[in-house]
Amino acid sequence: MPTPRAAPGLSGVRSSEQAVTLRIAFDNTYARLPERFFARTEPTPVAAPRLIRVNAGLATELGLDPEALTGAEGLAMFAGNWLPEGAEPLAMAYSGHQFGHFSPQLGDGRAILLGEVAGRDVQLKGSGPTPFSRRGDGRAALGPVLREYIVSEAMWALGVPTTRALAAVTTGEWVMRETALPGAVFTRVAASHLRVGTFQYFAARGDLEGLRILTDYAIARHDPGASDREFFEGVVRRQARLVAQWLSLGFIHGVMNTDNSSISGETIDYGPCAFLDAYDPVAVFSAIDQQGRYAFGQQPRIAQWNLARLAEAMLPLFDADEEKAVAYAEEALGGFAATFQDAWLGAMGRKLGLTAATPDDAALVQDLLRLMAETGADFTQTFRQLGDDVVPAGFEAWAERWRQRREAEPGWQALIRATNPAVIPRNHLVEAAIVAAVERDDFTVFEALLAATARPFDDADAAFTTPPLPEQRVMQTFCGT
Ligand code: AMP
Ligand code: MG
Repeated sequence: MPTPRAAPGLSGVRSSEQAVTLRIAFDNTYARLPERFFARTEPTPVAAPRLIRVNAGLATELGLDPEALTGAEGLAMFAGNWLPEGAEPLAMAYSGHQFGHFSPQLGDGRAILLGEVAGRDVQLKGSGPTPFSRRGDGRAALGPVLREYIVSEAMWALGVPTTRALAAVTTGEWVMRETALPGAVFTRVAASHLRVGTFQYFAARGDLEGLRILTDYAIARHDPGASDREFFEGVVRRQARLVAQWLSLGFIHGVMNTDNSSISGETIDYGPCAFLDAYDPVAVFSAIDQQGRYAFGQQPRIAQWNLARLAEAMLPLFDADEEKAVAYAEEALGGFAATFQDAWLGAMGRKLGLTAATPDDAALVQDLLRLMAETGADFTQTFRQLGDDVVPAGFEAWAERWRQRREAEPGWQALIRATNPAVIPRNHLVEAAIVAAVERDDFTVFEALLAATARPFDDADAAFTTPPLPEQRVMQTFCGT
């Protein structure tokens, strides 16, 4: 394995004589909250940073100059070696249920929020220890950083709410996991980093004032003008719709702990995540999920379980009378099923070319999924090929029913092509991109995969659309630690 090295002239260390050209208008609204919400923490500089990539499109969206971000100051900032004026770096406090067990004290153990830009959080991940690091080193390995970059940007291109990738750098340092791995820092942009676990943090401490301040803050950022109850209902709706989208694309999050469940409804914390190749509703990818708690088909149930934990945390805000608060929470949580079912059926119907699937169409969808599960059909390719009126062998009887239903849909073919991707970041492709970067210092495979997944609904080179051969299949992915 070659030693990660700095590119010439890009040590990432600024001399104080140089004039600063990179200016960023940070808002820092989170840093204005009470001190017990976070720990002020600076990134720990790294030895020899090198830029992997800046996301020019996202930079522009944020009102930042991509060219400036690609220069020496941008590199130094993304590495945690230099803080632009106005940044107030901090690690956020939160709790979380991890695999069903409550940890009252988690918090950003390896992430540091630089501030908000254009209303969105800009956070370094892998930028060194914080007061919440416990026994961790605060660092990230290159492989998981590349996976998060690829998969989060692919999700965005697929139209799924998600945190985004602004930049990635290598550090020139090793991180110790089972083996020594090259280190990297990932810069993440999120609508916010408020999680179910953030609410649990204050509730677990009986800190009602903190809960009040947090909820007001969350409402201001995500649901301006909403009441506490309306805010909660909004979170339920967003999560229900999000998980419906995941299921419609074959996406498995992998670690749906309450600290990885965002109030904004964005997909967050890409660890052992994966897209299904062969359809299998009980598929589990996370090496640490021995019980299958976060299996593909479990995701709606778990999202609702997480929302129940949010409801518990927010109970005192729903009503001063506990009984009334509980009754309300149960009713509001009950709304999850209907929203999910609507969103799921709508999305699955569109995948079959149906503009507005009704409950009568549910059997058509379910029967296709059952056939796919029985035969191990490739999820993405099977749906995509419907656009060419092609079905796998053995699906003919189902196809007859589908063709009849389709007669009422003149635009079925275009709809199928617009809703069923040709290209997803399949595991074997992501692994190949990681192996090339980690073992050969070759980032061209990563770049090519990013380019292909940025246009998921276009026809693409077979290398990006063909399911893996049995020997290429990647059945497990590992936590981003
Ligand atoms: P995750 O599994 O990435 O959602 O992380 C769960 C918790 O462990 C969070 O509080 C993280 O900040 C923390 N954590 C994960 N990896 C590390 C690390 N290498 N160093 C310190 N804290 C970590
Ligand atoms: Mg997490």
